[in-house]
Amino acid sequence: MTIHRLNRLYELMKVHQLEALAINPGPTLSYLTGLGFHLMERPVVLLVAPPADPVLILPRLEMAKTSQARFSVQAFPYGDNPESWLEAFRLGVKAAGLDGKTVGVEPTRLRFLELQFLRDAAPRTRWVGGEDVLSALRIQKDEQEVNAMRIAVEIAQKALLETIQKVRIGMTEREVAGELTLQLLRAGSDGEFPFAPIVASGPNSANPHASPTDRKLQPGDLLVIDWGATHAGYISDLTRTFAVGDVQEEFQRIAAIVERANEAGRMAGMPGIPAGLVDAASRAVIESTGYGEFFIHRTGHGIGMEGHEPPYIFGENSLILAEGMAYTVEPGIYLPDRGGVRIEDNMVITANGSETLSSLPRQLLTIG
Ligand code: ZN
Ligand code: ZN
Repeated sequence: MTIHRLNRLYELMKVHQLEALAINPGPTLSYLTGLGFHLMERPVVLLVAPPADPVLILPRLEMAKTSQARFSVQAFPYGDNPESWLEAFRLGVKAAGLDGKTVGVEPTRLRFLELQFLRDAAPRTRWVGGEDVLSALRIQKDEQEVNAMRIAVEIAQKALLETIQKVRIGMTEREVAGELTLQLLRAGSDGEFPFAPIVASGPNSANPHASPTDRKLQPGDLLVIDWGATHAGYISDLTRTFAVGDVQEEFQRIAAIVERANEAGRMAGMPGIPAGLVDAASRAVIESTGYGEFFIHRTGHGIGMEGHEPPYIFGENSLILAEGMAYTVEPGIYLPDRGGVRIEDNMVITANGSETLSSLPRQLLTIG
């Protein structure tokens, strides 16, 4: 399977006229090699420069991993003394035949640390952004990847159901987030969560990226919980909004509108249409009710090995959706200093439509 991915990468490099790629630890490196490395103070770089076999430059203590790679790599290990690292880069660059080529990198991943070694080892190389090739490589998920995401959704849903049974008026956002974190692990999430859960109550719920605080849940609050699990390297990313006790009528009204906007966005996805139409479908519902100015973010983002990856679901995105693309639909209405509602589900494009992976109720449920 991984060989197949490497061959696909070679094809994409040809199409995009990119001679080589330098990839450091992150989802793309794991996706290609099946190996997990952390970003640390010691650089790890995979050089993909056909026709040479891929080259891996890495700390000697990580060498054992290379036997698990699903295609053969030429490994260039280095020891503890940082002064010896450049030599490993020189040898690796030579083996890959990299010098003088146009080499793509992941702009949001590669650090000055790696670039400095690479530039010193390959001074005549032209460095360019390789994001077009790399996003095309990972954007359509295969069945195994979708199944991993399905399990990540199930784990997240189970954890939330356990958590909300324990939520009481007077608990702080931090306490709710702590319980949810525990329940995510209990339900089987990998320890590396896609992101720290958002638990935002009352006025805090009007901030889409709030962090849990010591604020206590009070009757009349809206409570936004945005959380996700990780399974086998794939993530889920869900949001549900709750009413704490009785809430004012306008909060109930915006919750019903967001629920309809969520449904419209979920129904819009199908192969062959621009991603922007999914955003337009959700946004039209909210705009028609006069709350358009309070929907302050794009409708969604791609998901897979990362919480944010292509396809991004915003109005101007002309990228054509295709089978296997996975993304969130997460419209919201945020009334400043009062409260907000967001409902987020995880979608995958199928052969003739789209499937919602998440199934928790979406209406405003009362807790506490
Ligand atoms: Zn989310
Ligand atoms: Zn999201």
